[in-house]
Amino acid sequence: MSTTHDMTSPRTRRARFRSLRAEQIAPGMFEVERRGGDTHVVDRREGACDCEDFEYRMGPAGGACYHLRFVRLVEDGVLCPGCGYERCRPSCPERSTTEEDH
Ligand SMILES: [Zn+2]
Ligand SMILES: [Zn+2]
Repeated sequence: MSTTHDMTSPRTRRARFRSLRAEQIAPGMFEVERRGGDTHVVDRREGACDCEDFEYRMGPAGGACYHLRFVRLVEDGVLCPGCGYERCRPSCPERSTTEEDH
């Protein structure tokens, strides 16, 4: 049995989602942006993501990268798509965004 440190603890996994933001760009398609980082497109119907993690480590037959997992949690209503928190924060961009700038 190898040492896994705390990579698998729920706390660590959840913390990763808190810098993510999901935006639906088409039916079943989400753009997941890491704050201050890169953006990836998740296809819910295909269960695919265009990040390297998914391409090289997960693959269609394998597991889901954290973008995919994030989108699933957002769709299930577990996490807020704007701030990635289970309980939406007052500082959440989703809250302060009014529709008028679109
Ligand atoms: Zn991904
Ligand atoms: Zn929020």
